[in-house]
Amino acid sequence: MKIVHTIKELQATLDDLRAQQKSVGLVPTMGALHAGHASLVKRSVAENDATVVSIFVNPTQFNDPTDLEKYPRTLEADCCLLEACGATMAFAPSVAEMYPQPDTRTFSYAPLDTVMEGAFRPGHFNGVCQIVSKLFAAVQPDRAYFGEKDFQQLAIIREMVKQLQLPLQIVGCPIVREADGLALSSRNARLTAEQRQQALRISQTLFASRTFAAAPGLRLEYFALVDGRTMQTISQWEETDYAVGCITVFCGDVRLIDNIKYKEPEL
Ligand code: AMP
Repeated sequence: MKIVHTIKELQATLDDLRAQQKSVGLVPTMGALHAGHASLVKRSVAENDATVVSIFVNPTQFNDPTDLEKYPRTLEADCCLLEACGATMAFAPSVAEMYPQPDTRTFSYAPLDTVMEGAFRPGHFNGVCQIVSKLFAAVQPDRAYFGEKDFQQLAIIREMVKQLQLPLQIVGCPIVREADGLALSSRNARLTAEQRQQALRISQTLFASRTFAAAPGLRLEYFALVDGRTMQTISQWEETDYAVGCITVFCGDVRLIDNIKYKEPEL
């Protein structure tokens, strides 16, 4: 596997591949690679003649400087993993290589990018679109692979590709989890043993909510997370001190309602 650090070296190899009519898959990553990344790379290797994996901790998508500084960087181990997965090339550029001048472009895909990660991490998706569009321009892949773990990101990238009319296919890949259910993430390396145990609740809660959808005989009419005073749906946990989950379910033709107080103001 070839390791390159500049767009020039990258394109020299890509020119050779293209001259041989080879199809190219791209897997954009920020490194500290794990089995989740490996699943994307293996999928690309299976579906393309050549696979380029980019490893770049993109500063423009970090709204928190500490998060950027503490983001794990493990290039040597990453290259071993990529080699084992059958990647053709690792592209690990410097910040100066990707941003020789400040990127002043703005990407706006409302309402996709105004909620959730877009609301809690201002500028995050703009930075993602800046770097991914640069990678698409540099590699010009036939297909690009993204994980469903970053569900909102995947939707925004699809929208960007559609609006820019880029001639490539976006392939979404399922979430890879640890045996106990925790979704693999480069940031898991930063968890203490105790935090690792606490984090298990995340997937456990999601799985428990799914058992409802599969429960025999029940049909969900609505579930809403609301402010207990206004009855309006909340979009941020911190926006109220009174959070109530309200549910309505048909059991056959019998309509049943219930609710649970997640947090309640002290009287
Ligand atoms: P990152 O290095 O975190 O930017 O992730 C690079 C790509 O790998 C993104 O498309 C992620 O959605 C994907 N990815 C990260 N973790 C997982 C996982 N546990 N399962 C599937 N894909 C993942």
